[in-house]
Amino acid sequence: MEEDIQAAVSVTNAYWQTHWSQLFTGGYGPPRVAGAYDGDTPGTPVCGGAPLPDDNAVYCPDGDYIAWDMDLMRWGHARGDAWVYLVIAHEWGHAVQNRLDAGLVDLARELQADCLAGAVLFGAAQDGTLTFEDGDTEELADALTALADRTPWTDVSDHGDASQRVSYFSRGARSGVKSCLPNGVQ
Ligand SMILES: [Zn+2]
Repeated sequence: MEEDIQAAVSVTNAYWQTHWSQLFTGGYGPPRVAGAYDGDTPGTPVCGGAPLPDDNAVYCPDGDYIAWDMDLMRWGHARGDAWVYLVIAHEWGHAVQNRLDAGLVDLARELQADCLAGAVLFGAAQDGTLTFEDGDTEELADALTALADRTPWTDVSDHGDASQRVSYFSRGARSGVKSCLPNGVQ
């Protein structure tokens, strides 16, 4: 699993590094990768004064870093290795949102992060930095479903239900980063 995590970080960063200037103005710098924490134990790292959430993964704008609860990664990785790629590409999507002009950030931030994750993973496959194995696309849909809300998106903090998450991810996978931006090509 450690190897998959390291690969997911490097593939995701390479994608943004390579394509940023074709997509956006300004330079690209990666977020810090704080890596694994254990939300069960005292001494969990903090973001904006609050401990990082148990069994979850985060992008913390205050500090510009990405981190994940090891239990979430273990649980998901047991379902399939695509899990860690999705989680890291999604959190990296939040770091990208934090680097964009406000007008390019969708009100449905979580769904936009799914779309960006799809754009990155399938874009990386086109770049030749990532190879999909049999079953990976099903694993990605399974992971999005497992991580979905029970109800459709209504509020900025919502993740959206399973069909919305799969649909946004698929849009990015099919049509790339620009299709994830407000008024983007769908
Ligand atoms: Zn998110």
